[in-house]
Amino acid sequence: MYYSENTVVYYKGEYLKAKDVRCNIYDQTIHYGYGVFEGIRAYATDSGVKIFKAKEHFDRMKFSCEVALIPYPYDNEKLIEISYEVLERNHLQNAYLRPLITCTPNMSLSKAIASQLLIAAWDWGAYLGHNLLDIMISPYRRPNPSGFKVAAKITGHYVNSILACQDAKDKGFDEALLLDVDGFVAEGPGANIFFEVEGKLITPQLGSILPGITRATIIEICNDLDIEVVERKILPEEIVSFDSGFFCGTAAEVIGIQSIDRVPFKKEWNDSKGFLIQQAYKKLVLGKDYSLLVA
Ligand code: PMP
Repeated sequence: MYYSENTVVYYKGEYLKAKDVRCNIYDQTIHYGYGVFEGIRAYATDSGVKIFKAKEHFDRMKFSCEVALIPYPYDNEKLIEISYEVLERNHLQNAYLRPLITCTPNMSLSKAIASQLLIAAWDWGAYLGHNLLDIMISPYRRPNPSGFKVAAKITGHYVNSILACQDAKDKGFDEALLLDVDGFVAEGPGANIFFEVEGKLITPQLGSILPGITRATIIEICNDLDIEVVERKILPEEIVSFDSGFFCGTAAEVIGIQSIDRVPFKKEWNDSKGFLIQQAYKKLVLGKDYSLLVA
């Protein structure tokens, strides 16, 4: 469960019991899916609880609000302090944080008049589990970048994610893989994707995807481990020739893919670059050195 009787959230400048928070039914966000959010993880490290890439997440939240024309009268350093406080008040260590910016009452289709901020936290295991995934290429396409600010984490975009994910589950798969509007591989409903081919990693270029903070982290890990990463357009027909693949995201972390449209990857996960990167990522979030892992 995301909250209990005692759960404390930060809402509109106060620490409140989640069960006592009242939302306004005329808030523009509820009606039009016009809000912004983030998904962040905290980890219990040897030197205490650490929120991983906190600055990057709050910077993206600010960016998302700016492009969506939602007022952002918040100081990100202060929001990081508040996030730690929310964790502490809920006795959480390994946890998921959910900052959400909603827009105040406005039934017109004009930009937000004002916004309010929620920061909630809960205990959340690996979002896509720990087992290798069987995924399918979804008939749903990612939102068209000429119709949406796809690089922003806007609440309404997630209707697309929900439809694709549920459709994949209804068809007996673990998760969906969405193409972009031009038919190139884009991303999962809540995660970016990487493939391994001939010892290199390839990943869809920016443009139709959410620029994931985990995706950027993996590119950094690859630089450190001397693994070449190519960002480019990828056709779904190319996938059969790839050796392995994985999804990555804050909630999902790094999780291997076993098959796409029931076609298994050629390499065993444990022999793949993704497996190595998964080990490195697990160390990095705990503030540990991963440089001795050999690519
Ligand atoms: N793509 C989508 C559509 C997502 O929702 C997410 C999760 N935020 C990601 C990619 C991965 O982003 P990040 O690594 O910043 O969590």
